[in-house]
Amino acid sequence: MDTPTTPPDIFGDRDFRATTGVDRAIAQIVSLAHPDDGFHITAPPGDNPRWARRRPKPLYSLTAALALNIQVEVRILRDIREARGEGHTWCDIGDALDLPGDDGDRASVAFDRFAPPSGLWWTCRDCTARVRDHGPDDPHPDDRESGHTADCPRHRAEVNAYLSGDE
Ligand SMILES: [Zn+2]
Repeated sequence: MDTPTTPPDIFGDRDFRATTGVDRAIAQIVSLAHPDDGFHITAPPGDNPRWARRRPKPLYSLTAALALNIQVEVRILRDIREARGEGHTWCDIGDALDLPGDDGDRASVAFDRFAPPSGLWWTCRDCTARVRDHGPDDPHPDDRESGHTADCPRHRAEVNAYLSGDE
């Protein structure tokens, strides 16, 4: 068994960037909502002033975090709608989200987790019609998506691939 030469990156660049982005977004929201009293100065144990930080007050931060969380959920759904409209598959979305499972499982997990119970609608870039997405589980493209125009090249290509067994 090989011994790793470098320690594992337990935080990961993506997580670090996300944490930094969240911190900045919360600070900006608190700053806009409470410009005069939104922050206090905190110092770690030992009170070394060198490490003192200006931080949003916790209840203001909490309110901002919830508002941010709601907007992140809205953004996730919008991005999924745009990705589907551009022709990305549920498997592509599952890959982007680093969901577990193989291709088929990952696609189903992505749809089950993010598609609203009322259904997911998006605009097809090829035919500009509003399409209802029924999820990736049914094999025939007509059962997975409804609403494309009869001459939509994207949907036609998907049906032809299905009928020829290329899918
Ligand atoms: Zn279409």
